[in-house]
Amino acid sequence: MKVLLIDDSPDALAIAKARLRKDDLDVICADNGQSGLVVAGEEKPDLILLDVDMPEMSGFDVCKKLKENADLQMIPVIFLTGSTDIDDKVKGLDLGAVDYVTKPFDAFELRARVRAALRTKRLQDLLVEHARIDPLTGLWNRRALTDRLDQEFAKIRRNGGSVAFVMADIDHFKRVNDAYGHRIGDEIISRVAEALHEQSRQSDLPVRYGGEEFSVLLPDESIESAAALAERCRKDIEEICVGFAGQEVRVTVSFGVSDTNIADSPEALIESADAALYQAKNSGRNCVVSAGAEVERTTG
Ligand SMILES: [Mg+2]
Repeated sequence: MKVLLIDDSPDALAIAKARLRKDDLDVICADNGQSGLVVAGEEKPDLILLDVDMPEMSGFDVCKKLKENADLQMIPVIFLTGSTDIDDKVKGLDLGAVDYVTKPFDAFELRARVRAALRTKRLQDLLVEHARIDPLTGLWNRRALTDRLDQEFAKIRRNGGSVAFVMADIDHFKRVNDAYGHRIGDEIISRVAEALHEQSRQSDLPVRYGGEEFSVLLPDESIESAAALAERCRKDIEEICVGFAGQEVRVTVSFGVSDTNIADSPEALIESADAALYQAKNSGRNCVVSAGAEVERTTG
């Protein structure tokens, strides 16, 4: 795990660094509050050790800035205080610090307090991650999708680029549940999720959108890539076969795809893919339809 040390004293930095290295921690340093905030934003450390007494920007000011920043406010802060002044310690804890260590450091105390803070951070990270994962399929959930869409659109506004999006829905899923029960229904949902996961790249975000609905977010990709991914998934899903009382249960999935050349907000992106999915359902299901494209109809 990564620890950021912010202290204006070169000696204090060197001592703390040497001690924390014994615990196999990745230790980065900053010698003033301003640069500490910059490094925190860039490196996203798991813990910040923050000297209270620094010129220009005090540790308290740095802590306030950290807690005001949505990206950094969850990083635990341990204050390094030279004083034995109770008021400073209380003030630091009230500003959101998890702990404080008094200088000069006792080697064992510093390491023990850092370990304790990192244990809590690990649990906190786990909770945050669990709140974003669908328990049945292990895919990301809608909350994770919403956050990621906001991030990707912010990135596009800053640097340009594109995002492609796939919306998918299992065809006639209610019939599966009605005929074979929810256990088989769940099995089908898990297998479909697996297919989406296997076809997604590391940088994609496969999501269980709700019930029998799924989506995949493809950063830096176009509608053509989304359509190609959807088509590969569609073929894989056709091969899925779940046994039930000597019968073979099979499903198909309909897909709608879109990208940020068509839609300029997260809501519009989802809506356009959803409209394409609706067209796929209306053109016989088990197919991929691109937003803005004319649906090819097979007649006869
Ligand atoms: Mg100092």
